[in-house]
Amino acid sequence: MKRCPIDNSTYEDNFQYCRSCGTLLVEETNGKLKCFLVEIEQDQKRIFELSPTEVCTIGRLPENTIIPQPEMYISRYHARIVFEDGQFVLYDGGVDSAGRIHLSLSGVFVNRRRGSRFVLSNGCEIRLGQSAFIYREKI
Ligand SMILES: [Zn+2]
Repeated sequence: MKRCPIDNSTYEDNFQYCRSCGTLLVEETNGKLKCFLVEIEQDQKRIFELSPTEVCTIGRLPENTIIPQPEMYISRYHARIVFEDGQFVLYDGGVDSAGRIHLSLSGVFVNRRRGSRFVLSNGCEIRLGQSAFIYREKI
């Protein structure tokens, strides 16, 4: 079984894209919560699975886990997502290879509000520069 991470509709395994919104389908999991960032407003909607054991770094340099598109207004080290007390938390400020934190220039926005720390909740919209993602949790 496959599932659309945007609208949660389910499909047989031979489907690749959601028929209603065109998003790449993901494999259904067996009762384990999985969390994703789904890129929106781009032709190719990339999906990034978040790991509770690894910091997800977001920025323009290739060493980052996620390089947002378009890269305009994205700092070299822009933001990070850390798993804290059972929740994914988004921070303004990326991490370089030496572990130093650099705040972004253009800021981090969740549901249109700028901030420095956000506990992510299912369906919230993350904006960095001109790129946008939806945070999705699913069983
Ligand atoms: Zn869909």
